[in-house]
Amino acid sequence: MRVVVTGGAGFIGSHLCDRLIEADHEVVAIDNLITGDAQNLAHLAGHDRFHYIRHDVSDFIFVSGKVDVIWHLASPASPNPSSPYGYPQLPIQTLKAGALGTHNALGLARANQAIFLLASTSEVYGDPEQHPQREDYWGHVDPIGPRSMYDEAKRFAEAITMAYHHYHSMDTRIVRIFNTYGPRMRLDDGRVVPNFIRQAIQGEPLTIYGDGQQTRSFCYIDDLLDGLLRLMETDFHEPINIGNPVEMSIEELANLLLRLTESGSGIEYLADRRDRTDPQQRRPDITRAKELLDWEPRIALEDGLRQTMEDFRRRL
Ligand code: NAD
Ligand code: UDP
Repeated sequence: MRVVVTGGAGFIGSHLCDRLIEADHEVVAIDNLITGDAQNLAHLAGHDRFHYIRHDVSDFIFVSGKVDVIWHLASPASPNPSSPYGYPQLPIQTLKAGALGTHNALGLARANQAIFLLASTSEVYGDPEQHPQREDYWGHVDPIGPRSMYDEAKRFAEAITMAYHHYHSMDTRIVRIFNTYGPRMRLDDGRVVPNFIRQAIQGEPLTIYGDGQQTRSFCYIDDLLDGLLRLMETDFHEPINIGNPVEMSIEELANLLLRLTESGSGIEYLADRRDRTDPQQRRPDITRAKELLDWEPRIALEDGLRQTMEDFRRRL
């Protein structure tokens, strides 16, 4: 098949391109490099089934020839306002990617009668009052809060995807991705795993925001991709959580990484950013993915973190 991956130069997008090339597809990656890195795709340059288009999907998307599948991943994804790559620093671009970008990608899919997959997020649940989060939970989101440029853009993206599904009878998928980590994450993207690994390797204190008792559930990239590829094989159009249900506090993650890296770094507790910005708890209920896709994560956190550490050491 001939497939398009928007956000193809990003962390998840570039690994997805690899998997699709391995599966013998022809891949067109589209990216404007706002948070991605062309280096993530350098090994595919010159491959006869791989093409890269540098383009902002918020503008009309033109791809010549027939397209069978569109994987729509283009969007900033880090919530950290201290990173130049965090979406709080890119509010308009993030809203445009989620709204105009999704509209354009759906338009491309419709013109080609292609299957369309939206990379949505656990952030549609906001600071959740239901725990763990099931797909039928509507969420707890502040429409003008500090994360709203991302949360509301993704909620709009889900809504317009469902509208195209119902109104234009399009074949669509919506995946709600929970915290995913692995090699190729930007060293300075500001998310917790890259921050902690970089800090541990460089002998800097690991920066915990608040008391570190907020929780997350971390999924390794290979597990996530297995879930995405299985979802594509179904015709299931309602949202589906893909993530790892093993939940831990941020303080536990910091201590684990200090042990794994054998770093002499300590921990520095910084100002709490949890006032309406930082979900207190997050864990996916993956019953739907287990039943529909026969999928669940296989890679233990320690193993995934070791792979990620190795990649970070090489790049640092
Ligand atoms: P990333 O920043 O590494 O990748 C996003 C890619 O999209 C980047 O290469 C960026 O340059 C590109 N992009 C952004 N806006 C664009 C635009 N207007 N036009 C073209 N390209 C654009 O982040 P990631 O972690 O790989 O995230 C990929 C997708 O998965 C995003 O949609 C994100 O919301 C979603 N997601 C990721 C996670 C996670 O934990 N990694 C969790 C939930 C959802
Ligand atoms: N966090 C932290 N120190 C950091 C980066 C993040 O304590 O250097 C915390 C952050 O406040 C949040 C959690 O780690 O509670 C996960 O943050 P991340 O940016 O990875 O993404 P989120 O899950 O909040 O979207």
